[in-house]
Amino acid sequence: MKTADAVVIGGGIMGASAAHFLAKRGFGRVVLLERGRLAGVSTGHSAAIVRTYYSNPITLELAKRALHMFQNDRELLGGDCGFRPIGFLLLIGERLRAAGEQILESERRHGLHVERLTVEEVADLAPPLSLDGVSYGILEPRSGYADPTRTTENLVAAARPWGLEPRAGVAATGVRQLGDRVVAVETEGGPIETNVVVNAAGPWAGRVGSWLGLKYSLRWSRESDLFVHMPVGFGALPVVSDPGLRFYLRPDGEDRIIVGLGAPKEIEPVEPDGCDPALDPGIRERIERVLFERIPALANARHLGGYASIYTITDDWHPIVGPEPGLEGYYAFFGGSGHGFKLGPPIGEALADVICGETPAIDLSPFRPGRFIDGKPLTSAWGEGNRG
Ligand SMILES: Cc1cc2nc3c(=O)[nH]c(=O)nc-3n(C[C@H](O)[C@H](O)[C@H](O)COP(=O)(O)OP(=O)(O)OC[C@H]3O[C@@H](n4cnc5c(N)ncnc54)[C@H](O)[C@@H]3O)c2cc1C
Repeated sequence: MKTADAVVIGGGIMGASAAHFLAKRGFGRVVLLERGRLAGVSTGHSAAIVRTYYSNPITLELAKRALHMFQNDRELLGGDCGFRPIGFLLLIGERLRAAGEQILESERRHGLHVERLTVEEVADLAPPLSLDGVSYGILEPRSGYADPTRTTENLVAAARPWGLEPRAGVAATGVRQLGDRVVAVETEGGPIETNVVVNAAGPWAGRVGSWLGLKYSLRWSRESDLFVHMPVGFGALPVVSDPGLRFYLRPDGEDRIIVGLGAPKEIEPVEPDGCDPALDPGIRERIERVLFERIPALANARHLGGYASIYTITDDWHPIVGPEPGLEGYYAFFGGSGHGFKLGPPIGEALADVICGETPAIDLSPFRPGRFIDGKPLTSAWGEGNRG
């Protein structure tokens, strides 16, 4: 039988991050199983916005670390991840005034560079925006977006010399347990003996858990992004998040933007195996309605297609990460809930420390699988159904 020091199931940002940092720490032979292609599901369809506005100490610290990692991607993420620090602008209306102040205060307390902009300053920064209903702006001048597929591929490629073995096109089909510990992963290519298994199977993490008798409360939502052409001379835009009209946008190269519906999210329920990847016209119209309200100058712009993918959502909209008590060698790492791209690398780094028996710089215990049973879910200043 083949052996490995660790087997990571799932080659999205979470699995790639866990595998990268385990290999980097000298854990040994780390096999990364991906049944399709790296970043082929949620990760590759992510808008990949890297921002720091969070209201929990753990997510703030992780997002701060993520920003640092993307700013130093060649050194810390294995290569150029296409990070574009074009700024992240949050439009705050009356309803979210207090939540916005709280976030500003928390970001500053955590040493993050963040600016409060008057409506006039927002207009100067992003002239195409119509600012009806906006009370002020919050600008993270150093935030931006990255290339999610390139990030995942870099993490994997850079760690190969340290012992990471990617197996794309190979599905895990079971996990063997002996007494209270995991001992092997069954795969389409035969079993791999191992004492460490990381469940980073994204939308299918519940299925992987069920092989070990574990039950997770997860929901899945079909989430769509639309590409819109930016006419020549339209001018530069930062990443924009508009919780009032509930959408976000970011530039995608020189002449188009990506636009999606934002928080508080409406769920479009879907099963992981049944997600139609095509953008449907009804969703496209809804996205266009809010986009054109905020940027009337785009009303005649061409739409350039789009796609749909999956959010894997936990009960408190925060990831589930860490060991399962009573099951030695098994670690959960899933449930990005629509904001897991940026959090993948810093969580992967900290989880690798946990697996190596070291104390991570960022304590991941608030994300532990048992938090819901303990009555300690995470909360958000933005209210329920949100990722703050
Ligand atoms: C439209 C959209 C926009 C988003 N925008 C942002 C954003 O701007 N910023 C942000 O931070 N986050 C964003 N997200 C969220 C982010 O993309 C996800 O939280 C993150 O990519 C989840 O990563 P993952 O590795 O857990 O899952 P995935 O990327 O889905 O990876 C899981 C992998 O596991 C594999 N797998 C499953 N079962 C098996 C098995 N049995 N054997 C082998 N492999 C298996 C799958 O094939 C898959 O590749 C967005 C998501 C979507 C859908």
